[in-house]
Amino acid sequence: MFHLNFLVFIVLTFFVGLSPNGFSTPDSSALVADRIIDGISQKPLTGSAILTKDEKIIDIVSENSIPDGYIITRFDGMTLMPGLINGHEHPLLHLDDYQNGHLQVSSAYKALLGLATMQRWLQHGWTTIRVMGDGDVFYGNQDIRRAIEEGVFVGPRITGAAHYISITGGGGDINFLSPEQSVIADGLIADGPEEIRKAIRTEIKYGSDWIKIMVTGAFHTVGDDPKNVAFSDEELSAAIAEAGRHNIPIAAHAHAATGINKAVRAGVRSIEHGTYLNDESIRLMVRNGTYYVPTIYVGDYYAGTGKLLAQEKNDDPYLSYRKEWLDNIKKAHVAGVKVVVGVDLGGYAIEPHVYAREFATLIEAGLSPMDAIKAGTSVAAEMLRWEDRVGAIRKGLLADIIAVDGNPLEDISTLEQPTFVMIGGRVIRQP
Ligand SMILES: [Zn+2]
Repeated sequence: MFHLNFLVFIVLTFFVGLSPNGFSTPDSSALVADRIIDGISQKPLTGSAILTKDEKIIDIVSENSIPDGYIITRFDGMTLMPGLINGHEHPLLHLDDYQNGHLQVSSAYKALLGLATMQRWLQHGWTTIRVMGDGDVFYGNQDIRRAIEEGVFVGPRITGAAHYISITGGGGDINFLSPEQSVIADGLIADGPEEIRKAIRTEIKYGSDWIKIMVTGAFHTVGDDPKNVAFSDEELSAAIAEAGRHNIPIAAHAHAATGINKAVRAGVRSIEHGTYLNDESIRLMVRNGTYYVPTIYVGDYYAGTGKLLAQEKNDDPYLSYRKEWLDNIKKAHVAGVKVVVGVDLGGYAIEPHVYAREFATLIEAGLSPMDAIKAGTSVAAEMLRWEDRVGAIRKGLLADIIAVDGNPLEDISTLEQPTFVMIGGRVIRQP
C-alpha cells in the first residue's frame, strides 16, 4: 500500500511538474468583470459574462443568464480582454547582444532561455508572438513552438520567420569583422533571385510560416544604412512570387520610403518599422491593405543608452525625427492603414512588463486607447490570418483571455501587469 501511494505520488509529481495545463481549469467556466473589451467593438461590454468550455469561448451572455453548471469567476474592479498579440519579436536575443549573441552561445542555449522568456511573456498576457527572424543560426523558435504544441511546455502561440533574409552587407549580415573571417550571420544571406528563392524554400522547409526580408538597411546594425534600399526589384519580385506559391506571407523590414513603397507595391503583407514612410507609402498601404508594424518603443528603450553596437546610428536620426515619425503614424492610421502592435525588444533579461509600453507609444502617436488595444488584438490577428482563432472575445474563438486591474482605456499602463491569463482555456495566472 505504501508503495502504491508512493508511486501515485511520484507519478502525480511528475505530471504536475510537466503539466502543460498550468493551474487546474474547470471544463465550463463563466468569467465576469466590470467590463469586457472584446477587441472588436468600439465600446466595452458591461453586465456580460464570457463562457468558456475546454479550449474555446462558447458564448458571451448576460451575467444574469449564465447557464447552470458553469463555475463563475468574478473579476471585481477589473477588465477582461483578449490575450495580447506581439506582432514583431525576437525571442532568442539576450539583452543588448543583437548581432553578437549567436556568435557566442549555441542555438540550444538560446532556445532554453527563449522558452523561459516566452513563458514570462505569457504570464504577462502575451498569448501570441510573431517571430520576425532571430539571432539564431538554426531554428530555435520553431523547436520551441513544436515542444509547446506537443504539450511538453506551456508557452504562447508562436508564428513567424526563423531568419531575416538579407543581401550581402545588408541588415542581416555581419559587417563588423575583417574580410578574412568567415562567420555565419544571424540573417540568411541571399543575393539574386535564385538565392532568394532557395532561402525562402529553406525557411519554409524548417518551419517558418512567414518570410522576413530586409528590404532596406537597419538602424541597430553595423555597416548598412536604413536610408538605402537593399533588395533589387528582381529580388523583391522573386521573393513575392516564391512565398506566394507556398501561400506564405512576407513581412518587409523597411525604413527608407523608396523601400517601403517598392515592398508595398510588390505585395508584402506587412511593413516593419516603416520609419521614413511618406504620403505615397500611406496611399499604397491603404490601397493594398498592407499592415503596418511601427515598433516605436524599442527605439525609446535604447535611445541614449550606449548599449548597442550601432548606437549612434540609432540615436542621431531617431531622437531628432521621432515626433515627425509619430505624426506620420497617426496620418497613416487616420487614412485607414491597419497599424499593429510589434515590440521588437528581443528576449531574455528584459523585464517582461515593459513590452506593453508599445501600446502607450501608439496612443502617444494618436491612436485612441481602444484602437491601440485593437492593434494588439484583433487587427494583429487579421494580419496573421488567425482572426478565426485569436484576437477577440468572440463565440468560437480560442479562449485566450486576460484580466487587468481597472480600465485600460483610462490607464493603458495597466496592461503591463495582467492579473489573470488564460490561453486556450488553461489558466496560466490568477489573481
Ligand atoms: Zn525586429
